[in-house]
Amino acid sequence: MRMSRSITFEKGTSAQSGWYPTKISKETLPMDSTELRQSILKHLEFSMGKDLVHASLYDMRMALTLAVRDRVIEPWFRATRATYAAQSKRVYYLSMEFLIGRLLEDAIMNVGLTEAAHEAVAGLGFDFETVLADEPDAALGNGGLGRLAACFLDSMSTLGCPAYGYGIRYEHGLFRQSFAQDGRQVETAEDWLRQAHGWEFERPEASFRIGFGGSVAENGRTAIWTPEDAVLAKAYDTPIVGWQGKWANTLRLWGAEALTAFDLAAFNKGDFTAAAAPEALARTISRVLYPDDTTEQGKELRLKQEFFFTAASIRDILRRFNAEHSDLSGLPSRVAIQMNDTHPAIAGPELVRALVDESGMEFDTAVETARACLGYTNHTLMPEALERWPEELMSRVLPRHMQIIERIDESHAKAHPKRNVSIVENGEVKMGELSFIMANKVNGVSALHTELVKDTVFAELNALHPGRIVNETNGVTPRRWIKGANPRLSSLITDTIGAGWEDRLERLVELEPAIADKGFRNQFAEIKARNKRDLADWIERDMGIAVNPAAMFDVQIKRFHEYKRQHLNILETIALWQEIRANPGAGWAPRVKIFGGKAAPGYVMAKEIIHLINNVARVINADTTTRDVLTVVYPPNYNVTMAERLIPASDLSEQISTAGKEASGTGNMKFSLNGALTIGTLDGANVEIRDLVGPENFFLFGMTASEVVECRKTPDHAARAIKASNRLGAAIEMIEAGAFSNGDTEMYHGLTQNLRGHDYFTVCADFDSYWDAQRRVDAAWGDQDNWTRMAAINTARTGWFSSDRTIQGYMADVWKITPMI
Ligand SMILES: *Cc1c(COP(=O)(O)O)cnc(C)c1O
Repeated sequence: MRMSRSITFEKGTSAQSGWYPTKISKETLPMDSTELRQSILKHLEFSMGKDLVHASLYDMRMALTLAVRDRVIEPWFRATRATYAAQSKRVYYLSMEFLIGRLLEDAIMNVGLTEAAHEAVAGLGFDFETVLADEPDAALGNGGLGRLAACFLDSMSTLGCPAYGYGIRYEHGLFRQSFAQDGRQVETAEDWLRQAHGWEFERPEASFRIGFGGSVAENGRTAIWTPEDAVLAKAYDTPIVGWQGKWANTLRLWGAEALTAFDLAAFNKGDFTAAAAPEALARTISRVLYPDDTTEQGKELRLKQEFFFTAASIRDILRRFNAEHSDLSGLPSRVAIQMNDTHPAIAGPELVRALVDESGMEFDTAVETARACLGYTNHTLMPEALERWPEELMSRVLPRHMQIIERIDESHAKAHPKRNVSIVENGEVKMGELSFIMANKVNGVSALHTELVKDTVFAELNALHPGRIVNETNGVTPRRWIKGANPRLSSLITDTIGAGWEDRLERLVELEPAIADKGFRNQFAEIKARNKRDLADWIERDMGIAVNPAAMFDVQIKRFHEYKRQHLNILETIALWQEIRANPGAGWAPRVKIFGGKAAPGYVMAKEIIHLINNVARVINADTTTRDVLTVVYPPNYNVTMAERLIPASDLSEQISTAGKEASGTGNMKFSLNGALTIGTLDGANVEIRDLVGPENFFLFGMTASEVVECRKTPDHAARAIKASNRLGAAIEMIEAGAFSNGDTEMYHGLTQNLRGHDYFTVCADFDSYWDAQRRVDAAWGDQDNWTRMAAINTARTGWFSSDRTIQGYMADVWKITPMI
């Protein structure tokens, strides 16, 4: 049973002209392809202004998008009305990033129209897959943090948690990556809005004036802030429909515009540049996503972006509250604001400012009220990634907020006189401390990470506020990451345990008894094999590299960062290549090493690693003696769509970060769910994956977080490790000798010197352990049936990583909100 639409409509209205549900009926009406076809044709004609004969691929995609969007309106309106009627608390998820990917396939799946759409589109003479593939990825995020926000939107809608996602409508999402310059990363602007964005509704009426700079005048207990500049924040809404169309929430993204769009006088004088200047200036605020997965420190534009979307969101939240209620002291019973990392940390001071300066609330009461609304999710322990803003910059751009921050700091210090924690320190505003102090709950994103948050970055604050820190281990949406990305596996799951696992993923444990059955294992193996053949075809088509689909697909896809240690993987690849050359007949397990990921444009070391991987690939792939057993491929421009393609076809998932550095990871969960085995360290959610799948179904290696800390106390830990490992030494020497740089011995000097010297991320100290684990992987690969058994166990035991479970945790522990369905 697919499409279940339990609504009837008034006569004389149509899906296109704002139809309106009148009564909810029990029976389900499967929407057929004929009905959808009519709707597509109508949109082709009236929305796109084309007839079928002249419709381009784009026209067809847009017409299908609009026809599907029509189906989302009903649950969307219904959810809004139900929330109003129940006066329910709402969640406001503030995130600088939403790494969404494509929307169309997901929406079609969620409203149960997959088959009808396939049929309708084919009937109109277009290939369904091609139409879906025409949609550009909405890449409004860098990596895990932004993808988490996107998975949370899906889960909040699936669970019927009344929620808004708030973010920025970047004109340019994450840059496009190519390796045009001899394997070096080259960035070009991404352009997802060049074509119309069919999902969004522009809301000119929901606009707010957002000010910057200027001066503050005392006004009794309050203050009057007179900004020097201002831009307009305009709302663009995208409906986010949950599984089976039972509920839909709103993703509201803010676009920046000039208050005075155009200087006609200047234009009439012929000064076209001056005429457009105000508009150009304002628009820079939402022009481009910062392409760094940590943060750009101290950049004024970044601070303005953060304030821009946070202030617009807070105003929108207060407007909605004030429309329904008159007493602001009731705010916490209606409003839960979640700060995804510190990027929206100014929400605390901004909310206090609104309550004090605009509504006359007493300062301490305002702080308490704001705190009762706010939650803060910490995503990193790395000091360079914890935001700090120069006091001078904060005072200049947000003078009133700086005053409020100082006052919050003072009263916190007064309340805890014996402790030495402050928000403002050495001329900097520490946004982590600000977020902690202004939140009623602070959460880490995996069990290990949360313990480290308590013991390291926020140890003192944790002692002052016991119980404030809670854990909410990340998750991923099974709709996109299993059902959509791996339809073959999804069918096998449904055939084995019955329907309905998509929103009750804990039910995957019911697969376990079937794993003992050889027939089931063969089906599981056949699905993986077919997914791999599809991927091999794509690699051949896209990159011109022939890979053996029977080889082990060994995959590391994620942002490039030294802590994620792609260089550990490529060093092992070099060592393995040498070993195979020395002993070609030793029955090596054939492998295809697949890399994917982007580096921040200014991250020199990460880009050097990318360049090295491409050059190692070039050299190894040209070696005819090892060709059958070792290939290295690195498709450019890793994004959500590529992840959906690669993960279902993976055998081995590389999760090899330096222990203590990866807060959680979510890629690791997607792989396990799709039946890949993990080679990994005890880091982030790897710990919980290993606990769930069992240590015998996980390839563990490397130092623990505390061993890493110990190791660094020996200043020459890297040199010692190199001396103790011939393989590692030889691999580094090959790089230094120019084996991958056409004899240039200087090319990777920065990288090799770092490995021989400081090696903060303990690549060398973990190398031998990693090598040994890889050889255990080889041995396990030798017994294909047992490998399949282990892979299937991974799928069966990792249902806990559904983001539905994560959101249920937030609802119970942080937001104190009950689901509406
Ligand atoms: C899941 C995902 C990530 C996060 O991957 P990690 O391995 O957890 O860092 C990053 N980018 C994309 C496109 C993803 O889908």
